[in-house]
Amino acid sequence: MSEQLPYRIGHGFDLHRLEAGLKLVIGGEHIEFDLGCAGHSDGDVVYHAVTDAICGALGQPDIGQMFPDNDQQWKGAESKVFVAEADRIMREHGYVIGNLDVTIILEKPKVGPHKEKMRRNLAFLLGCEESQVNVKGKTHEGEDSIGEGRAIACHVVVLLQKNP
Ligand code: MG
Repeated sequence: MSEQLPYRIGHGFDLHRLEAGLKLVIGGEHIEFDLGCAGHSDGDVVYHAVTDAICGALGQPDIGQMFPDNDQQWKGAESKVFVAEADRIMREHGYVIGNLDVTIILEKPKVGPHKEKMRRNLAFLLGCEESQVNVKGKTHEGEDSIGEGRAIACHVVVLLQKNP
């Protein structure tokens, strides 16, 4: 990987099924709802997509390779450990967050009331200012599995900059 580049950009995407009887954790926030995310860890799509975006920018393996779902070590893990590991690798390569743009797509519940807390969680985990993090929410207009409330998805774009 060229560590000479002043900037590196990365994209992350994740999708999880929503199922009854599971807890719903999005961007580190526990949200009261009758459905939650199925997944090996706590199923936090935001933290998973952020991890993949940062690792992608650095040319690293994807989250599935780094934290295999057949590894009992990660069963039920809080997804902040994945973000913390991505942050560690980012700093090891000499980069810091330039800015991070998160789009959460789900039909229900509304993420609006939780966006600021998610932003704060991400800024804290990544050692940056809240102004460097943006969290947006949108629906899928009733279409497909997300629109029918059976899944939640997240896209993340991150810009890393060389630590001066
Ligand atoms: Mg995931």
